[in-house]
Amino acid sequence: TTPGGPRAREEKIVVTIRLRPLNKREQSSKDQIAWECTDDHTIEYRPNPHERVVQPTTFMFDKVFGPDSSTETVYEDGVKTVALSALMGINATIFAYGQTSSGKTYTMRGITEKAVNDIYMHIINKGTVVEKLVEETAKDNQHLRHLIHICDAQRQVGETALNDTSSRSHQIIRLTIESTLRESSDCVRSYVASLNFVDLAGSERASQTNAEGARLREGCHINLSLMTLTTVIRKLSVGKRSGHIPYRDSKLTRILQHSLGGNARTAIICTLSPASSHVEQSRNTLFFATRAK
Ligand code: ADP
Ligand code: MG
Repeated sequence: TTPGGPRAREEKIVVTIRLRPLNKREQSSKDQIAWECTDDHTIEYRPNPHERVVQPTTFMFDKVFGPDSSTETVYEDGVKTVALSALMGINATIFAYGQTSSGKTYTMRGITEKAVNDIYMHIINKGTVVEKLVEETAKDNQHLRHLIHICDAQRQVGETALNDTSSRSHQIIRLTIESTLRESSDCVRSYVASLNFVDLAGSERASQTNAEGARLREGCHINLSLMTLTTVIRKLSVGKRSGHIPYRDSKLTRILQHSLGGNARTAIICTLSPASSHVEQSRNTLFFATRAK
């Protein structure tokens, strides 16, 4: 089968789960592993013997990656077809969604690097643009990696100064890709598309799940962009009859408007901690992922 599987090839929104290993802190506090990937598509809750079990305990997705899966595998099997569609003029967005410390940044850094390498394999010597506050033209693969490194560094500075900005802010790396394909001896076709890599704020910022509209603005700890994004994705996944899609309600969705819905393709990687101490947040993430399908 093709990378991403035959289904992922056609789907507008591909939803995958990545379950990370227990970290040192969770191990030393004797946290239990609460989730198990039982096959490529299924993640199951493992209650402890005396627990009253909350249903559902089984969740299914396009792909589920367990604690032994490498970022390489996540890229090849979950993201690659979406990323490379930007070479054919189709806007594409890759999100990492999950609570703080679940592995969003770890995953997106690896994915961005692999996608950039892959794209340069296909379009050597073509002009590529990275947009930040200013637009910069990347001369080559190395220069582009340097620009991405600067983006990461700027965000890290913010983190120390403002106490964990990354749990409250979103990072978007947008590549604008212009490609020219010679279709026959006298026909050359040009394409332009955006490819967005989005490392979202911690999903605990959106966990007041039924807060919308006016109530949403009551709690300033809730991230408006993250809430709006979940609404937009939910409406897009329902399809045409979902009516008005509130792209303009937040900065993030306004920026991504042309890369979500329509002909655009989206891959969402939902990252999870396996720890029993995080079960509630992990469930919220899985519910978000289920609604995105
Ligand atoms: P987030 O961005 O969601 O807050 P991070 O990506 O910073 O979380 O990950 C938190 C910690 O867990 C980091 O130290 C990271 O290296 C580690 N980590 C995350 N995912 C994995 C993984 N799949 N395998 C190994 N370590 C991971
Ligand atoms: Mg992070």
